[in-house]
Amino acid sequence: MKKLALSLMACAMILSCQKETKTETVETTAPEVTTVETTTEDVANVSNTVTIEGHDNMTFNLKEIRVKAGEPVTLTLKHVGSLPEASMGHNWVLLKPGTDVADFAVEAMNFKDNNYVPSETDKVIAHTEVIGGGEETTITFDAPEAGTYDFICSFPGHYGSMKGQLIVE
Ligand code: ZN
Repeated sequence: MKKLALSLMACAMILSCQKETKTETVETTAPEVTTVETTTEDVANVSNTVTIEGHDNMTFNLKEIRVKAGEPVTLTLKHVGSLPEASMGHNWVLLKPGTDVADFAVEAMNFKDNNYVPSETDKVIAHTEVIGGGEETTITFDAPEAGTYDFICSFPGHYGSMKGQLIVE
């Protein structure tokens, strides 16, 4: 929301700038182009079709995912490494606000046969299965209400480096 507000402010500033300096064309050109590029980026980042990659070095390629509230999210997790599921499996788990990530990850270790997701948990909004190198998996879920949500890979030992935030706008 903050970013959007800033973009709107920037737009408003450009509009007023254009009005005042319509005759002086040279100076207004440069800042205008910069701001337009920023705005376009913001829009492109908010998409409910998301692809996130997991690597052999226990990282996701995204630390932040932005989606729109009130619409389904289609998320594809790609394991772009080559290590097998048994030693370097990855999943993507979206946690409810207020969940203690470390506590959850410890609990999740006991649920290998359930994709490292506790079978009777109320802390998970959505999750993928665990996949190995070269595999991918896609899930669809309803975007939760506007807010910031933690996501992790709950494979044992991974949550420390495989984590990020889903921002619902
Ligand atoms: Zn992982």
